[in-house]
Formats: sequence, structure tokens, C-alpha cells
Amino acid sequence: MKNIFLCKLKDVANWASKHSMWPLAFGTSCCAIEMMHAAGSRTDLDMYGCLFRAGPKQADLMIVAGTITVKMVDVVKTLYDQMLEPKYVIAMGSCAATGGIYENSPSVVKGVDKIIPVDVVVNGCPPLPEDLVKGVLQLMEKKG
Ligand code: SF4
Repeated sequence: MKNIFLCKLKDVANWASKHSMWPLAFGTSCCAIEMMHAAGSRTDLDMYGCLFRAGPKQADLMIVAGTITVKMVDVVKTLYDQMLEPKYVIAMGSCAATGGIYENSPSVVKGVDKIIPVDVVVNGCPPLPEDLVKGVLQLMEKKG
């Protein structure tokens, strides 16, 4: 018998899990435009097993793309709580990482890590779509 191999179902499931992410389609400001671009034809996040989902109950990755204002804190926490376990967070851009150019504003959170755990930070203002792809690949490595 040619072209047949045997392996454990658990190993196949772990391999598939390691190489797939289901990010929530969620963005708060200009970095979200770059996140959308990352899913477009040039960088094509789908090709890396990363497909955007419309709701938090189908997602295991939150890409925090943009500024988080104090008013948004409850929304971000609620969406995070509704996501599948195990779940991951990428802070995309300097606003999500530290507050960025708004860090002196009292209405802006100085880093999304103050409200939810962050696994990977993608730097820049805005980061390029390629930088986000790199961040997703780093996260997949970390998952393994
Ligand atoms: S990091 Fe720059 S591009 Fe991203 S949300 Fe902040 S100001 Fe906009």
C-alpha cells in the first residue's frame, strides 16, 4: 500500500490547532484598516490558517487594533470573556500597546494589557500588514 501513513488523532488535532487561528473581526481605530489589509490578497492571512470570525463565541484570537478608550473597557472585557478557550491576544500598534500618541489623555487606556492578558505585541504606528502576519506566526509558534 502506497501513500498511507498512520498517526494518532490527537497529534493531527494538535497540529491543526497549532496552525490555525480564529481572530475576532474587531477594531477600534486606524490600526484596524491595516488589520483588514492583512486579510486582503497581498498578505492573505487566510493562507496562514488565520480566518476572521464575526462573533466572539467562534473566535480564539483578539487582535486589539487601535486605541482603547476608557469607555471601551467593558466592551473589550466582555468580548474577551465570550471567546473560546484557549484564547490569545495580539496588541497591534503603539496605541494598543501603551496608549501611543494618546498616552497623556485621561480618556485612553495606557495599554490593553492593563485590562486583558496580551500574548504578542506588534509595534508601529501603524504596523504594516506584514508586521501583523509576523505577529500571528509568532503566536502560532508560542502556541506549539
Ligand atoms: S498606533 Fe497609530 S495607526 Fe494605530 S491606532 Fe494608534 S494612532 Fe492609529
